[in-house]
Amino acid sequence: MKKHNFSAGPSILPGEVIENTSKAVSDLNGIGLSVMEISHRSKDFQAIMDEAVDLFKELLDIPNGYQVLFLGGGASLQFCMVPFNLLGKKAAYLETGSWAKKAAKEAKNFGEVEVVASSGDKNYNYIPEGFKIPEDADYFHITTNNTIFGTQIHEDYDSPVPLVADMSSDIFSRPVNVSKYGIIYGGAQKNLGPAGVTFVVVKEDILGKVDRMIPTMLNYKTHIDNGSMFNTPPCLPIFTVKETLKWLKKLGGVKKMEEKNREKATLLYNAIDDSKIFTGTAEEKSRSMMNVCFVMKKEYEDLSDEFLKYAQSNGMVGIKGHRSVGGFRASIYNALPLESVKALIATMNEFEECMLNN
Ligand SMILES: *Cc1c(COP(=O)(O)O)cnc(C)c1O
Repeated sequence: MKKHNFSAGPSILPGEVIENTSKAVSDLNGIGLSVMEISHRSKDFQAIMDEAVDLFKELLDIPNGYQVLFLGGGASLQFCMVPFNLLGKKAAYLETGSWAKKAAKEAKNFGEVEVVASSGDKNYNYIPEGFKIPEDADYFHITTNNTIFGTQIHEDYDSPVPLVADMSSDIFSRPVNVSKYGIIYGGAQKNLGPAGVTFVVVKEDILGKVDRMIPTMLNYKTHIDNGSMFNTPPCLPIFTVKETLKWLKKLGGVKKMEEKNREKATLLYNAIDDSKIFTGTAEEKSRSMMNVCFVMKKEYEDLSDEFLKYAQSNGMVGIKGHRSVGGFRASIYNALPLESVKALIATMNEFEECMLNN
């Protein structure tokens, strides 16, 4: 049966990206060697790295003065690298979910942390508004898409201090005004590639302002000076990221991607809003275009397990909600086709009809 992959991460990748990766795993460009068994210092790998960086810059429209790095350690290591490199005295954080909270917790090891606003009072089902970013902070950290709670910041904030954003789960899903950010980072495994590589877009002139000792591997400067090759980079994941970016470019780039994502999200949210048994968990204007969280209405709560089973039997994969929200979560990342969203909606409608007519 056809599988519809709604997994939150690692998550769906375009079919041709997986195909091209498996070809390169067998034989890279007909050189008779696997991409996994060549030196990262070789001409062949350097070309892969250069193309990945160039496509990243081109597709995200990154201005001069920024560097694109491909590192290890996941987004979670950035929770520590950001304060290590930037936090002198105080940093500001917006607490919009579990990942944001983890990032702020890590920063507390390096100095004062001011949480400017939190949506924890309502289980993170909205993005706070009307908060003030302190001008004496060294940076302001946000999580643009809250993968677990299904909320998303739909604007590029004006910040008086360097804006640092965890974009793990919405990078390349829409245009971003990069010039408003000091750092953009994320794990690749939501919208870009397999787990194992972390992207960091960093504005060079915000670095070098703290006077603590920074371990070599945790210092952005090390990786800038060595083109992400101070040590062996995650070669195979970087190859796949490059293939995903090629796919995105062929499709028409982030503007086109945003249109497609909006179409998918609108269709699914409308189906949830029209349903008699399902209801969305996020406040309407904070709804994520990447992770759609919904639950059974109170009076139908005991049907949750049955729906999960029914959905699975119809080929739906990964729609069980995160334990901190419950219910269901459909991750509808870039690579997920409209057809899969339609299949999920059909499954929801069939289930609902069946339940209400019995
Ligand atoms: C998945 C995720 C992370 C964690 O990423 P790792 O690469 O596993 O460390 C952090 N932030 C957000 C928003 C995520 O979705």
